[in-house]
Amino acid sequence: MEEMITREIFRNFPVWMKASFYVVGLLTVAFFVYGFWLKYKKYSRGRDAGRFNHLGKRFMKALGKMATNSTVMKRDSYAGIAHWMIFWGFIVLLIGTTIIALDQDFLHLIFGVSVLKGTFYLWFSLFMDVFGVLFIVGLFMMLFRRAKKLPQLDYTRVDRKADEYDRKGYMTDDKIFTWFLLLIAFTGFFIEALRIAADGFPAFEKWSPVGFALARVVDSFGSLNTLHMLTWWFHGIIVLLFIAYIPYSKAMHMLIDFANLMFTEEDAVKKLPRVTEEKMKEGMGYVKIDDFTWKELMDFDACTKCGRCHIACPAKNSGAPLSPRDVILDMRTYADATIGKPEIFGQIFNNGSSKAKGKKEPAIAGDVIKAETLWSCTTCMACVEACPVGIEHLTTIVNLRRTLVDEGNMEDMLQDALMNIGDYGNSFGKPERMRAKWTKDLDFKIKDARKEEVEYLWFVGDYASFDSRMQDMTRKVASILNKIGLDFGILYDGEKNSGNDVRRIGEEGLYEMLAEDNIAAFEEASFKEIFTTDPHSFNTIKNEYPEFGGSYTVHHYTGLLCKLIDEGKLKLSDKLKGVKVTYHDPCYLGRYNGETAAPRRLLEALGVELVEMPRNKENSFCCGAGGGRIWMDDSKLDERPSEQRIKEALSLGNIEYFIIACPKDYAMYSDAVKTSGNEGKIAVRDIIELIEEAL
Ligand code: SF4
Ligand code: SF4
Repeated sequence: MEEMITREIFRNFPVWMKASFYVVGLLTVAFFVYGFWLKYKKYSRGRDAGRFNHLGKRFMKALGKMATNSTVMKRDSYAGIAHWMIFWGFIVLLIGTTIIALDQDFLHLIFGVSVLKGTFYLWFSLFMDVFGVLFIVGLFMMLFRRAKKLPQLDYTRVDRKADEYDRKGYMTDDKIFTWFLLLIAFTGFFIEALRIAADGFPAFEKWSPVGFALARVVDSFGSLNTLHMLTWWFHGIIVLLFIAYIPYSKAMHMLIDFANLMFTEEDAVKKLPRVTEEKMKEGMGYVKIDDFTWKELMDFDACTKCGRCHIACPAKNSGAPLSPRDVILDMRTYADATIGKPEIFGQIFNNGSSKAKGKKEPAIAGDVIKAETLWSCTTCMACVEACPVGIEHLTTIVNLRRTLVDEGNMEDMLQDALMNIGDYGNSFGKPERMRAKWTKDLDFKIKDARKEEVEYLWFVGDYASFDSRMQDMTRKVASILNKIGLDFGILYDGEKNSGNDVRRIGEEGLYEMLAEDNIAAFEEASFKEIFTTDPHSFNTIKNEYPEFGGSYTVHHYTGLLCKLIDEGKLKLSDKLKGVKVTYHDPCYLGRYNGETAAPRRLLEALGVELVEMPRNKENSFCCGAGGGRIWMDDSKLDERPSEQRIKEALSLGNIEYFIIACPKDYAMYSDAVKTSGNEGKIAVRDIIELIEEAL
């Protein structure tokens, strides 16, 4: 009986037919392997990315992300659920097909035995049917989603006119990919149904519930054996075509994305790569495809065009000519063109080539990716955070900016800011001795950590030190800390710009100088831990200075104040109880460093009523100042990110305070309230001001 509970794979096939299938199969595999060899050839041109450590850990982490689809589920649960069904449907069907192939071509052919029978076969059949249905439902959910014409799935570019490019290749590929999969699933069920009907409905086949039910429908179709054979071949050819199509199309993401997730680094953009000495001899930036690391080249292929980064990008949302998705896709087009194998389903530019501008050798920074595109980035990291497949857009953007800096291809305002930082150590162009001028109006003296031992060294930062709008706030921080008896000091004229934004502009040489000077000043001082009010400085001192020999315990002041509350050193009254506020997470605090809890704990301790904006915590929306944008002209934007953010806060209704925890945010949002015509409707306040009131 056990022997009879099975199925014949090559049912009624003459030997020549079986042989032809294997020949076509081998040709397909050759085509598939060639496609991947081309990828390998491309990646092997890249520089070392240093990502071959902890391979086991990396593999398990990527496996976990893939199995749960957690990165796809994040921010879009509908797409996540649909993708989960497609993913697991595909995996189970793939495993099932592999078992059939092993059973047929190995166990049966060589040893004359089979495992695909009896109880195992029954469960096997049930699993294949259930996951086949999930697969189809997931695909239809995705088709439905695409029909809704969501902005993230719109391939319109923000940096080129409609007649300058053609992306029909992408749309064709999207359709082919989905319909290939649907056709494979449907024909699979039809083969099963025709076989069951032709075999006279054996009772055990009820373990294939979908096939069994469908068999009732096809039973009346006439010549079932012939139909079965024809459908079998149709299904077989489609499957083989799909395998051949994988490395040349969107389907490639099924394989590349696992590798990309495996080799991605969580701190890749908060700790930007140093320029090696060897690279430095040729220049700081990227000028040719071989300058990219193999991981960056793989990033370009990993993009599924899901558009999550596209809709999260503050530059794109304010009308700047930048979409992180298009940076990655343009680089893919360019990289493929350089190995002489342009994408089959790619984009083309108006000169009919896959290289932008029609030049023989276009400059990557300037032609392939326009300078204004690269300069539009606020380095907010929203793209990296949103990307479900571990693409690190920012390393590419910053490395291309390094080329622009080498060439002096930047706005005058930015050039001036960099010169000021180089000459005076601050972007305001003020003499070093004026850095601590804000302390003059205090009724107590702040310790000089270079002369006296302190517990905490306060890295004040440029904006908090020099911006007249901020100095009052800086004094408030000092007074509060003094009032609660914190033992702290500053570096006075020994402090320099931390370099976080200088590095993200691409001025690596200046950054290294600033980091080294600040570390030298730290070494001169005597302290236990560092704190700063500036999330940008917080990021680079905490994450990047260690590579230059400066490893310290660093706090953002919100974290430090929480610590002081826990230690009973900071006690707050309930004076502000019930005041309705919203809080803006600074990119370099929340998204870069995961510090979203401390500011909220402070607000809770103050007793205010916190109403969250729709985009909060790691999904916060950038103010538009980062990555050096604060030193660039933003007058051409349709609507500044900071103005959009104020509107987002106002949409919550009756919010009294827009709370911030970054000196740059104070400047950006105070201006945005005015320029968006909302003066008097909402007040921008730093958390420290509320603390002062509640003390
Ligand atoms: S870092 Fe921010 S501004 Fe830059 S491309 Fe990414 S999302 Fe856009
Ligand atoms: S880069 Fe990532 S988030 Fe952006 S479209 Fe590609 S896969 Fe989606």
